[in-house]
Amino acid sequence: MQNCPKCHQSVSSSAVTCPYCRTVLKAYGHPGITLHRAVGDTPLCESCTYHADDTCNFPQRPDAQECTLYDNMNQRQSDREALPSTSPNLIHALRLCWQQNPTLLGLLGLAVVSVMLTLIASK
Ligand code: SF4
Ligand SMILES: [Zn+2]
Repeated sequence: MQNCPKCHQSVSSSAVTCPYCRTVLKAYGHPGITLHRAVGDTPLCESCTYHADDTCNFPQRPDAQECTLYDNMNQRQSDREALPSTSPNLIHALRLCWQQNPTLLGLLGLAVVSVMLTLIASK
């Protein structure tokens, strides 16, 4: 379920148009793609990840009122904060291990490839 950006009613996430106010919710011709809409006069780009990291080259940037590729950076930030705290530690530990033992990890990779080739050749 999602909320209609115009009338704020709860509607099915697969709805192409809002059943209450008929606002188009999906991109025209692409019913699987959500068409994000600005609320009020504030362009979507102001809260978009791709505007913040300067990777968007859409011509409607920075004043997009509608966009299919909009990515809410505030939502992304709160998703990141909701991740279990062990995930960054695990990634950090793996990165540290890679930096400190590149030879060992290279040898381990070679051993895995050798075992796989041996298994393939024995069939
Ligand atoms: S992806 Fe859309 S909303 Fe995001 S910066 Fe580009 S034009 Fe703006
Ligand atoms: Zn609506």
